[in-house]
Amino acid sequence: MDLTSGYGVEFPRVSLFAIREGYESRMIEITLTGTGSPMVDPNRAGPSTLLAAGEQTFLVDCGRGVLMRAAAVGVSATNLTALLLTHLHSDHITDLSDVITTRWINSFGPAPLPIIGPPGTKAVVDATLAALAPDISYRIGHHADITAPPEIVVHEYTQGQVWDNGGVRITVAPTDHRPVEPTIAFRIDYDGASVVLAGDTVPCVTLDELATGANALVHTVIRKDLVALVPTQRLKDILDYHSSVEQAAATAARAGVDTLILTHYVPPLASGQEDQWRALAAGEFNGRVELGDDLLRVSVG
Ligand SMILES: [Zn+2]
Ligand SMILES: [Zn+2]
Repeated sequence: MDLTSGYGVEFPRVSLFAIREGYESRMIEITLTGTGSPMVDPNRAGPSTLLAAGEQTFLVDCGRGVLMRAAAVGVSATNLTALLLTHLHSDHITDLSDVITTRWINSFGPAPLPIIGPPGTKAVVDATLAALAPDISYRIGHHADITAPPEIVVHEYTQGQVWDNGGVRITVAPTDHRPVEPTIAFRIDYDGASVVLAGDTVPCVTLDELATGANALVHTVIRKDLVALVPTQRLKDILDYHSSVEQAAATAARAGVDTLILTHYVPPLASGQEDQWRALAAGEFNGRVELGDDLLRVSVG
């Protein structure tokens, strides 16, 4: 059975070990596990990005379908070193319960999951665990070797260094997605390589500072030129708290990054229109611009 064809798009089935073949340990490997948005799209999972740095694997946000996409590249919930959340908008956390339970029931032995997010994360995790209470009691009751509920260790931050382990450093800074707040961006540094994940934000000084000199910036974007044409106020509402392609590119230019990776496309990036999106970015940024479908992979370092 080919589990990767369910979205109507064929993806190569590769194992984690295959990915690591020829993998240079000094690099950070970025995989867009979901390039979609709240708009349901049969070909795009919800917002999430997988980062491999040395022996550590981080998932940033966990939108719709994330574990199916991660499975396509040989990564399961049990492989995650930590889950990082940029903010608590539903499209970025729809599959939080899936990540928590799938890790729990597939782990044999202690498997605490660190979750790093903005203030408010602990309340959301606690509420998710409360919603899972019946399932948790069924499984503890049924499996002799499952004796405790999922162990989640939540860390809430808005700025500063939040992780320093095995050569991987993670730093967060506040972003501006108001009225959604607090929201944060993450910077991962590993052996000279660095990646910044902006999440949903309009341009802001704190993001510029966090991204300064990074190898790559992963930025969510909307096409403001297209969204502005839609005669629905509720959709137009999103214009004021997201970056356009041009704004994300300008952020990349100010920060001096080498590579800009676009994701969370609104409207969904249609096949054949990549050059149009690229041209909008190129007007503001001279570096490399990457965009595409779910499972696009970029290595930096
Ligand atoms: Zn958002
Ligand atoms: Zn979003």
